[in-house]
Amino acid sequence: MRQLIEAPPELAALRGRLQEIADLQGIVQLLRWDQATMMPPAGAATRAERSATLDRALHEKLVSPELGRLLEGLEPWAAGEDPDSDEARLVWWARRDHEKAARVPADLSADLSRAAALGQAAWLDARDHADFGRFSDALERHLELRHRYVGCFEGVEHPYDVLLDDFEPGMRTSEVVALLADLRAGLAPLVSATAQDDRPRNDGVFDGPFGVPAQRAAIEGVLAGIGFDPGVWRLDPAPHPFASGVGRGDTRITLRYDEHDFGMALYSALHEFGHGLYAAGTDPGLDRTTLDRPVSLGVHESQSRLWENLVGRSRPFCDWLLPKLRLTLGSRLGSLDASGLFRAVNAVSRSLIRVEADETTYNLHIVMRFELELALLEGELAVAELPDAWNARMVSLFGVEVPDDGAGVLQDTHWGIGAIGYFATYTLGNLMAAQLWPKVRSDLPDLDESIAAGDFAPLRGWLGEHIHRHGRKFALRELLAKVTGEELSPEPFLRYLRAKLVESGQL
Ligand code: ZN
Repeated sequence: MRQLIEAPPELAALRGRLQEIADLQGIVQLLRWDQATMMPPAGAATRAERSATLDRALHEKLVSPELGRLLEGLEPWAAGEDPDSDEARLVWWARRDHEKAARVPADLSADLSRAAALGQAAWLDARDHADFGRFSDALERHLELRHRYVGCFEGVEHPYDVLLDDFEPGMRTSEVVALLADLRAGLAPLVSATAQDDRPRNDGVFDGPFGVPAQRAAIEGVLAGIGFDPGVWRLDPAPHPFASGVGRGDTRITLRYDEHDFGMALYSALHEFGHGLYAAGTDPGLDRTTLDRPVSLGVHESQSRLWENLVGRSRPFCDWLLPKLRLTLGSRLGSLDASGLFRAVNAVSRSLIRVEADETTYNLHIVMRFELELALLEGELAVAELPDAWNARMVSLFGVEVPDDGAGVLQDTHWGIGAIGYFATYTLGNLMAAQLWPKVRSDLPDLDESIAAGDFAPLRGWLGEHIHRHGRKFALRELLAKVTGEELSPEPFLRYLRAKLVESGQL
């Protein structure tokens, strides 16, 4: 870090406190990973208590008056520093975390985490029975608690801003409304021109059965090719794919395998690799500070979707991928050639399920969830009316009839834990990735050739330099502007998508 010698002594004290907070947050990540991968089911009750104790300890450290006094003392000094310096950003983010945590009373914080656990259980039960009625009380409770949470903050343009800000710092509801309206208008004609009913995912080229050991071996080969280093990374099976940045030198991703669809694990692996690479790429100088992590879910998703779609569904990647898969999956891939693979992985179909949606229809799934959340929070839509509102949107946006709540309004876990304000970040990430991509390509003119040849180091280097190393220093729009000079906009994504649909023979 710069100017450490001239920095006031309070800075070292602040860093000491932030190190403890960062360590506890790393332990939280480790416990979550363990619970999803290794923990025997009977350990859940004890684990919930351990986690709650850890959360309380973390919260106490975040809201401690000593931390507040340190920050107050440091602010005049930080104001004289370069606003982009590590030190100025450190003070700014630590202040933000401290104030946000301090505004929420401890009993509300406890109510929120209890409701998340209970809501998750109610949602699982409701989804298993495809019966929204079993979840509606829990969702009512989530909304009531979110209104109380929003009430802890003053001077907001829209109540939803408070919820959105927890996932995408600084982003406003009005900005997301405008972005999604433009995106929806641009996507509608593309979807109606390309989407087919009941077209199998990836045109069925990855339809199994493929045994899990063969899938795992194939994916290990692909991941090793793009930069997965077993000295630093772990890959484990879990019920839901995710990436976990436990700390420097310890990046973990998980996958779910479906014997009938190798494409699911393959593209999840590329996606989670993108998340892991971002989490692992923070500048070592930021270690154990409040800046040593990804800045937001939108930026996180820009990195995962970039590897999954802009790289993973590109023609040069298909050229590299196919012979690699033949080594492990052999004759199961039949007479498929690289152009057939490229066409298949860009197939567009009208689907019920967000996580199975192709790149073209995906964001419409987000648009409808965002609109419904907004209507719920504004009181325009009652919880009891949510399934009908969901089903009506599936018809108007996709022309698809929802057979039951399990394949409809209950399909995602987010509302189960009360995570309202989260969904839009998926689309923000898709838009950001499409805006970064032209810049990547102009900075790396041989990118296609290097991807086709299996040399991903230039791309990893570019992402590390321009995005990953900054950790949490710059929020999404600021980071995007620094890298591309652009405002966040749906146009580059729509341009990219049209070109891809033409190139892959869908349009
Ligand atoms: Zn993701």
